[in-house]
Parts: sequence; C-alpha cells; structure tokens
Amino acid sequence: MVEVFAVASGKGGTGKTTSTVALGMALAGRYDVTVVDADTGMANLLFHAGLSDVETTLHDVLADEAPVDTATYERFGMTVVPCGTSLDGFRDSDPTRLREVVATLAADTDVILLDSPPALDSRAAVLPVVMADRAVVVLQPTIPAISDGLKVQEYATSYDTDIAGLLFNKVRDDGIDEIAEKTERYFEGPTLSAIPESECAREARRAGRPLLAHAPESAAAEAYRSAADALTVRDGESDDVADRFRSAVIPERP
Ligand code: ADP
Ligand code: MG
Repeated sequence: MVEVFAVASGKGGTGKTTSTVALGMALAGRYDVTVVDADTGMANLLFHAGLSDVETTLHDVLADEAPVDTATYERFGMTVVPCGTSLDGFRDSDPTRLREVVATLAADTDVILLDSPPALDSRAAVLPVVMADRAVVVLQPTIPAISDGLKVQEYATSYDTDIAGLLFNKVRDDGIDEIAEKTERYFEGPTLSAIPESECAREARRAGRPLLAHAPESAAAEAYRSAADALTVRDGESDDVADRFRSAVIPERP
C-alpha cells in the first residue's frame, strides 16, 4: 500500500518543511514513511533533518547522475530524501524525473510526503501537487494566506488531487476555532490541527533536528501528533501509484 501527499501552501515560510518532517515523524509510529524534499529550487529539508553534510541528494538523482537509493537516508524513524541547495544543482536537474523517483519509492513505503514548492508558476513547482493523491494545505490563519491556500486547492483539485486537510501553523490567537470553522467552509478537507507559534520550532530548526525529536513534549509537537492521528491513510496499490506517476502528464504551461 502507499499514498502520496503533497505538503503545500501558497507562500514560502508558512511551515511546509517543518510540517512535512513533523507529520512524517508522527506517522512513522504507524506507517513506513518516506519524506522527499520536492522543493528543489529552495530546498531546506536537509537543515531540518540533520542532513546538511550529505554527499548525494535529489539534485543528483534529478540530474541522472545517481540512483534514488543513494540519496535516501534513514533518520528519525523515516526514510528521508533531501535535496541540495546550490543553484547549479537546481539548474542541472530535470524536475520531470521526480515522477520516476516517486514511482521507485512507492514500491517500498506506505506514506510519501512531498515537501512542495510554494508557488505554482513552473513545471518544477506544480509537479508534486499535480501528481499526489492528496494535498495537505499549510496555512497561517490570515486572510492572504487563506486566499493563497484556496488557489492551491483550486489547482490541486483541477488535477484530481484531493485535499487531505488543513494545517493551521504559527497560530497565536485564541480565536482559531472560529477561524478554522469559517475557513473549512471553503475547503474540501477538514482541519487536521492548529499548530501554535512556538519558539521550540525555531530552536529545532537551528539545531538541525525535527521538532518532534528536539521538543517532543512541546504543545506544537503534540498538535502535529494529533494532525497525524486525524489523517487516515488510504492504501493505494503500490503498482498502480507507480504507474500513475510514471505516466503522469505535466502541464506545459501551469
Ligand atoms: P516553508 O518550508 O514553508 O518555507 P519552514 O518550515 O522552513 O517553512 O518554516 C519557516 C520558518 O518558520 C523556520 O524558521 C521555522 O523554524 C519557523 N516555524 C515553522 N513552524 C513554526 C511554528 N509553529 N512556530 C514558530 N516558528 C515556526
Ligand atoms: Mg521549505
């Protein structure tokens, strides 16, 4: 079985990477989880997972210079596929190869989380959202962020990618229940959790460790665990998912 999720949002800095790694760790208690840094232009998952020194990354795989298995690392109970951060690495990589990468990974894992690029204006940027089974939309509870999130939903659903749910992040105010209730009316998925604004999240990032490893008792970590509990993973046939990825048509002009 396998299900592929895109962790997406309209803008950068909302907490996609933090959320990808945290959800991955939380789901790893129940599933075999693989997280992939599919934000190949602004990769930073490696910094969240203690992988900043690794030799081989997704860039090498997308440049057809290394097989996928040389860019996978077992960390924090998950399989992690980090991406490099150099501009040359990005330039030399062919984003469409991500289809083959995910198809290969699908044979051997239950859940794939694709940390996705924020904007939807290039082939590299739309690929995860187009190809995933479902998208988790990460939102800060502000009008502009919610409006961006709606664009992500519109785009995703136009390619038959369902919405798994909303993850409110960096939540400061007490009124979040009311905001979530109103926001849910416009989205096709439930609210999975509201993650509080948390110094622990920033500290974890600075320490190069996932939040759930760095501060497992924090309120933010607890909120991510409840998000993972709210997510029922569907058990697609690995072969079907792999075939779908291999044959996916990527929009020429997103
Ligand atoms: P994105 O991948 O969407 O660009 P990141 O996950 O890299 O966003 O997060 C951006 C910054 O916000 C990082 O410094 C991260 O530590 C911080 N951050 C993420 N979630 C929280 C939170 N709940 N509270 C406080 N800071 C957070
Ligand atoms: Mg990121």
